[in-house]
Amino acid sequence: MRVAFIGLGHMGSGMAANLAKAGHSVAAFDLSPAALDRAVADGCIRAGSAADAVAGAEAVLTMLPAGRHVAQVYGEQVFAAADPAAILIDCSTIDVATAKAVAANAAARGLAMVDAPVSGGTAAAQAGTLTFMVGGTADAFAHAQPVLAAMGKAVIHAGDAGMGQAAKICNNMILGATMVATAEAFVLAQKLGLDAQTFFDISSKASGQSWSMTSYCPVPGPVPSAPSNRDYEGGFGAALMLKDLKLALAAAAGAGASVPMGAQAETLYELFAGVGGASKDFSAIIKLLDGSWRP
Ligand code: NAD
Repeated sequence: MRVAFIGLGHMGSGMAANLAKAGHSVAAFDLSPAALDRAVADGCIRAGSAADAVAGAEAVLTMLPAGRHVAQVYGEQVFAAADPAAILIDCSTIDVATAKAVAANAAARGLAMVDAPVSGGTAAAQAGTLTFMVGGTADAFAHAQPVLAAMGKAVIHAGDAGMGQAAKICNNMILGATMVATAEAFVLAQKLGLDAQTFFDISSKASGQSWSMTSYCPVPGPVPSAPSNRDYEGGFGAALMLKDLKLALAAAAGAGASVPMGAQAETLYELFAGVGGASKDFSAIIKLLDGSWRP
């Protein structure tokens, strides 16, 4: 299949490489020449612009930073150049309102589009083990599914346009809030004289268990693969968690939903980013809570 891929950053580079590995002909474009060089080394074909990449493609994928980039790239380049039979797939994490607006613009032009944000970080993008949450019509989902399957381990239809983004931000709001709750529980346990490993052994098998505890445990030791064992390097950056929490709060305000735990988590990650924690894994919030954070 002829595929266009626009946005070859931390995530898009691995995803485009996996599409090429799966035998697709991938026309790639990024504003960064270095990102484009790496995509070519990974088996993609260099395009001179987003519109050039899109011309003649049967599937168009984008992996861009935020809603304004997505609105701009689709509005100024993709829509005019896309084949009427192509499927348009935006994998970026963006606000629900922009996702719905861009999908409505596509529909008005008779183009099929889905929002398909991902769960899983750069390692999953490279390994082809992402989870895709897809918003769009049943026909558009069926069209996008085999393309996404080449880059992931699960492709799930979340509902109509925008519902992929809704699933992503609701999931990550749980993740942000449970990480804060898990981190403060470890701090309290320690202050009460309860050993961290012992607390983990109990709570990970009791009702305090969550992904934040058993996959990204904020204290070093209990989960060897967790970023806490690598001075909180790699993993899921606090800046990205903050971005997703802000998207969740904006969506909640628009929808009239009360999200006090999400709001509290957003406040804490904003504070942490403001004192130099943005590039650390989001589990490093424990160092803000126990007072040991030094930028
Ligand atoms: P990134 O900044 O590394 O990559 C974005 C790329 O888009 C860059 O290479 C940039 O040059 C390119 N770009 C920007 N504007 C462009 C334009 N107009 N035309 C062409 N290229 C353009 O970001 P990333 O970490 O790859 O994240 C991409 C998206 O995936 C974000 O929405 C992010 O929230 C989401 N996400 C990231 C992770 C992660 O762990 N990094 C995990 C899940 C989801």
